[in-house]
Amino acid sequence: QAFLDRIQQLNPSINAYITVTAEQALAQAAKADAIRADGNAGPLTGIPIAHKDIFCTTDVLTTCGSKMLHNFISPYSATVVERLEAAGAVMLGKTNMDEFAMGSSNETSHYGAVRNPWDQERVPGGSSGGSAAAVAADLCAMATGTDTGGSIRQPASFCGITGLKPTYGRVSRFGMIAFASSLDQAGPLTKSAEDAALMMNAIAGTDQRDSTSLDLPAEDFTAMLGDSLQGLKVGLPKQHFSKDLNPAVSDLLQGAIKVLESLGATVKEVDLPNNHLSVPSYYVIAPAEASANLSRYDGVRYGYRCEDPVNLEDLYKRSRSEGFGDEVKRRILVGTYALSAGYYDAYYKKAQKIRRLIKQDFDAAFEDVDVILGPTSPHTAFKLGEKNSDPVTMYLEDIYTIAVNLAGLPGMSLPIGQINNLPIGMQLIGPSFGEARLLNVAHQYQ
Ligand code: GLN
Repeated sequence: QAFLDRIQQLNPSINAYITVTAEQALAQAAKADAIRADGNAGPLTGIPIAHKDIFCTTDVLTTCGSKMLHNFISPYSATVVERLEAAGAVMLGKTNMDEFAMGSSNETSHYGAVRNPWDQERVPGGSSGGSAAAVAADLCAMATGTDTGGSIRQPASFCGITGLKPTYGRVSRFGMIAFASSLDQAGPLTKSAEDAALMMNAIAGTDQRDSTSLDLPAEDFTAMLGDSLQGLKVGLPKQHFSKDLNPAVSDLLQGAIKVLESLGATVKEVDLPNNHLSVPSYYVIAPAEASANLSRYDGVRYGYRCEDPVNLEDLYKRSRSEGFGDEVKRRILVGTYALSAGYYDAYYKKAQKIRRLIKQDFDAAFEDVDVILGPTSPHTAFKLGEKNSDPVTMYLEDIYTIAVNLAGLPGMSLPIGQINNLPIGMQLIGPSFGEARLLNVAHQYQ
């Protein structure tokens, strides 16, 4: 009830939630109370949680930030939602996001921009901006997000919270609306690494309904939290610490490195020579996959349908023209072009080759170090409207995060301080399945 009251008070200005599920939340909370009274409570029993509106939920709207799904109620729930519910978490509602998770500022949402609780003239980051703002403003205790190119880590950095993008395949994508299927991954946005570990315990693990989910032995992500960092080898990518790095961000990173060194870590430079190709290759691969995934929104089966179509072609054309926003259309155009006959080899295939090189760079780096440390975002949260007239400027927001998705690796962002009263995070990157180690480093740092 306390969280619901706070949402009622603050959500009209922050706009973090698209849907608030007050009644269901109180019913779930009553159930959690009963479980607790019976002495059967787990770590998440009764914990108020928000879900990014990309996760399907039965009985509750799932819009994906789009007019296209303004009326969509899914007949099934996402595995992530089901697992958190089974763990006793209480869903407070569904959070705002960039339309179909395409964006870095939350300004592409059909439901209006989210405002950063630290400064309401600024963006919360994106695409999981509603979830990040909700956690930062205490409109929930923890939230789910998704990260295709940085959408958990960058908003975590802008809102001063902790965010983890797990290894590709660690968490089921079933019921998570697809953007770029080979890159999409769900993960926690929380106040601390410990909370992120608790959420990971609930959501990670194989799922028969997602053939890309990995069948690994169950893992307790809290098990290593208390381990010493003595002997930890931290890699600093020379491409991330170049002269282009913002000096204020650099200072905070140097401070964070000193903290880790005082805890027993050693640092060394690592080389990610193809890093500069990550944004260009992502902006071929992600739109290509999106153009295929979004072909399902045709106005026929569910979602937005134009009024009085005169024939089938008119139905398709107008439903899609009216239902999708500009950024989504831009991605569909780019993706369709990159996949078309005659261009496929020149763009899509080439981007896939670069993707492999980027993965190999990380593999080589992880022969020498346990984790890689660098910036999450080039700067603190920017002003609403500052960048949305220029898509390429917006795309460069993810310059430090995208390579991690292309390589399928786990990455996290955790707060390291403030610049002019705005929070900023550092990024930790691990080898595949290295989440527990990342959480350990983050927990010891915090
Ligand atoms: N900002 C990136 C994009 O617009 C990443 C988004 C994401 O991770 N979902 O594609």
